[in-house]
Amino acid sequence: MDLQTLIKDAKERFGFEEAGALNVEALEFLPEVRQMCAADRCRSFNRNWSCPPGCGTLEEISERVKPYTRGILVQSIGQLEDEFDVETMMETEHTQKARFAQLVEYVRSKEPDCIPMAAGACQVCKKCTYPDEPCRFPEKSIPSMEAYGLFVSKVCIQSGMKYNYGKNTIAYSSCILLK
Ligand code: SF4
Repeated sequence: MDLQTLIKDAKERFGFEEAGALNVEALEFLPEVRQMCAADRCRSFNRNWSCPPGCGTLEEISERVKPYTRGILVQSIGQLEDEFDVETMMETEHTQKARFAQLVEYVRSKEPDCIPMAAGACQVCKKCTYPDEPCRFPEKSIPSMEAYGLFVSKVCIQSGMKYNYGKNTIAYSSCILLK
């Protein structure tokens, strides 16, 4: 799959405001990000196969991603009326999730063993089977960048993209690793 074509498609066909090449070499799987997951503010820690501890240790993740030498980073950017514009924040998050699900479906149809990482826990099922049964749809499941220990702002900046687009904006970022 040609990366430049995919980046172009991400913007023109799937609607992301920004897309670019992911700097895979700069990916660091940080225990301090995992500690934020453990604080459980998103109510997904220890409740979802795509989140810690179900998604594996940082050592396992580091091994898992080793064969992946390139990737794409995609962003949805919302323009807020003011800093309290929670409605637009939620809408932008929803837009990012919807666009990313479509992009992942497309990329997986061509490269089934790609690794997508979204903003937030996997939401394919209304209720995750964790920990009682194995994941229902491993081929559809999407882990989060944070679950993999990635500091999202750092990943964006080290990939030559912005994380913050200025006052009264909100940006959500997701990525896909490719072999
Ligand atoms: S696909 Fe379903 S069972 Fe698997 S991680 Fe996602 S929500 Fe959980």
